[in-house]
Amino acid sequence: MHPLLKPSLRPGWHDLNTVQFGVAPAHAVVLSPVDTASGSFLSLLDGTRGLPLLREEAARMGMDEGYVDRLVARLAGAGLIDEAQPADPRARALRRRPAALRRLGPDLASLSVTQRDPDAPLLRLTARRDMRVQVRGAGRVGAVLASVLSAAGVGQVDVMDGGCVEPGDVSPGGVAEAQAGRRRSDAARQAVRRAAADRPRRTRAAHRDGTEPPLSLVVLAPRDGLRAYFPDEAEAEQFLTTGTPHLYAGVLEATGFAGPLVLPGSTPCAGCVLRHRTDRDPRWPRLLAQWHSGGRRRAQACDLALATTVAGLAAARALAFLDGHAPDSPGVRWETSLPALNWHARQLWAHPACPCGAGSEAPAEGMGEHTSKQAPLHATMAG
Ligand SMILES: [Zn+2]
Repeated sequence: MHPLLKPSLRPGWHDLNTVQFGVAPAHAVVLSPVDTASGSFLSLLDGTRGLPLLREEAARMGMDEGYVDRLVARLAGAGLIDEAQPADPRARALRRRPAALRRLGPDLASLSVTQRDPDAPLLRLTARRDMRVQVRGAGRVGAVLASVLSAAGVGQVDVMDGGCVEPGDVSPGGVAEAQAGRRRSDAARQAVRRAAADRPRRTRAAHRDGTEPPLSLVVLAPRDGLRAYFPDEAEAEQFLTTGTPHLYAGVLEATGFAGPLVLPGSTPCAGCVLRHRTDRDPRWPRLLAQWHSGGRRRAQACDLALATTVAGLAAARALAFLDGHAPDSPGVRWETSLPALNWHARQLWAHPACPCGAGSEAPAEGMGEHTSKQAPLHATMAG
């Protein structure tokens, strides 16, 4: 092992025996007691020395025999150590691609903060390269979201949409102005490629027998936000049948939202949402049918900054899922509306009668949707 004290968590001494690593409360760790000798020894944990060399250094400084192992174990137990030279061959291969790693350096540093296991940051970044994500929708939200996933190291990002690029689809990081008139899916794919020129080529991401790798995630970010806010049950059925996790995101009438992330059979799906809404108001399907009809011709109230925010938030949620974090809040849709931009988490519930099965054990008196009391999300978002 070549222990590296997590480089992005800033150390600060409270007093002679107490050190805090990290400023932001979510990931800061306070270690106490730490003696003065250990304090100076910490600077040697920069990833350039293996354990044998560190033991020699410790012996030279007059430390007892088990000192280094105890210190490293204690720091690793507090989630403060990265492995600088991982044994995994693919992680080592990534280490040998300095251009890619330099570009993804801040992403790797972020994984270093969020992952406790010393090997995990490089392994997670490596694993992203084998992931395949499909984004449905190449408008202001979808194209940017797809580009962000690609730039963050996801190996294969497929974008699907119909029609041709209109001037209103153009956004920084998404579809470029010069692509107006081209097919939307082609233009978005070009944006995805532009976002990460160093990502593996499509042919390398495919399986050896020529088939596509299975989808890790589908993101539904249609240009008409209504189709993600109250999604079509029929469109979701294919994902439920294949057990494909899927995430909704969009902007609807100056309200931006990300979620829910649907884990088929476990968390509420489009059908669950529709059934709960219809339980509360039997006229609901009639309203929805009116709203859905003619949607394509309607002007979309989709503020560029809000769309970009939603794309980033949804991409972050997608990456957290792809990196193996179980969703803290399954069935939650984060929402914010212009101009106040207060965030709130709307809890959606699984429905016992939905064929997806997520609600089969849920209490029958589920309330459909309501605004969650749990989340002072605005506080988190505002920092
Ligand atoms: Zn359902």
